[in-house]
Amino acid sequence: MRKIAILGSTGSIGVNALNVIREMPDELQVVGLAAHSNSALVAAQAREFGAKIVSMFDASAAADLKTRLNGAARHFAPGVEGLCELAAHPDVDVVLTSVVGGVGFAPLLAAIRAGKTVALANKEPMVMAGAQFMREAERWGARIVPVDSEPSAIFQCVQGLNPDAKAAAPLKTIRRVILTASGGAFGKYTGDLAAVTPEQALKHPTWKMGKKITIDCATLMNKGFELIEIMNLFSLKREQVEIVIHPQSIFHSGVEFSDGSVLAQMGLPDMKLPIQYGMTFPARGARVVEPLDLFAVGNLEFRKPDFRRFPCLEIAREAARAGGGMPAVLSAADEVAVEAFLSGRLKFTDIPRVVENTMAGYQVSGGLPSFQEVVEIDAWARRKAEENLR
Ligand code: NDP
Ligand code: MG
Repeated sequence: MRKIAILGSTGSIGVNALNVIREMPDELQVVGLAAHSNSALVAAQAREFGAKIVSMFDASAAADLKTRLNGAARHFAPGVEGLCELAAHPDVDVVLTSVVGGVGFAPLLAAIRAGKTVALANKEPMVMAGAQFMREAERWGARIVPVDSEPSAIFQCVQGLNPDAKAAAPLKTIRRVILTASGGAFGKYTGDLAAVTPEQALKHPTWKMGKKITIDCATLMNKGFELIEIMNLFSLKREQVEIVIHPQSIFHSGVEFSDGSVLAQMGLPDMKLPIQYGMTFPARGARVVEPLDLFAVGNLEFRKPDFRRFPCLEIAREAARAGGGMPAVLSAADEVAVEAFLSGRLKFTDIPRVVENTMAGYQVSGGLPSFQEVVEIDAWARRKAEENLR
């Protein structure tokens, strides 16, 4: 029986994870739940799954949850401390990180330092300091299993090649990784991107996800983040990753080995599969998703991304090239810009501008920043990005 804590249990990934766990009552058990402010849903989830430890980021939601659960669970402090306590709790085997944005940074570190298996959905911390997290995981005997569908696909393709590796260790025989992208809401759009609304940008053709990542998919920043995420997870060079637009989201990503052989992981676009694998790894559970019917799919298309129309891709590649604290600046500035776009304060096409201008104000120096330095860089970049909004 694997004991699971879900950080962000009320979101798209969190709810899907509970849908998986509901179907595997003999293998997976929920012990901890956390979210930002949706105390009503956390209370219902805690009751259904018998979660014993809970935490709400928002203080008034935390008080509300306490009333609702009436002594049925142990409550941790609101704010990031509660998330960290939950992530490191001795009763937890697997921490599913599915909060959104940089707030997941400290809880990821806490889970790693407690030697947990991390089912990693929350990609932003792996963009901010992925190499440092991998090193830390090695040191504390923690394991990071990616849940994001493309990194999970790559992880699945390389399994068996080094079965002893705790994390996805560097594999010398990888020549190239094929990282696919659906193309997002505007993959086929030919109109003026400067005039698109949040409502339009939130209509993703193949995946149903939270708002932040859906906007990141529309700008293709999400693929830039995944580029950096997989470089860190699998010790890849930027040049080894080929980004390919694949509108059907069936070929979730692939790996080309030294001899030219390509392995890919495929399936319908349903996050339940990589979430399940993240929680059961290295075992495979029973099927919780619809089987892939290739006759129904018919065709798989692949094409080159349009770097001119979607500058975020190149901006992320530049952050990867610069290294040091630059990916943390990229992630923080994007979070500010996406929030501003969603609240109507910024045009869609100004998202890359704000990120680029924020990065232009940062100088990479020395080697990899420490975790504390990354936290400071993140705070600086958020302030700078706010200035750049004006
Ligand atoms: P959602 O917006 O749907 O959900 C976010 C979740 O995080 C909610 O449970 C929310 O709680 C919680 N949350 C937000 N802020 C805080 C906070 N400060 N403290 C505690 N909890 C918080 O996001 P997604 O599920 O779509 O995405 C989650 C992460 O997974 C992101 O990093 C994303 O990039 C990644 N990911 C998502 C995929 C998907 O299919 N959705 C695919 C691949 C990666 P509340 O409801 O109370 O606000
Ligand atoms: Mg993805």
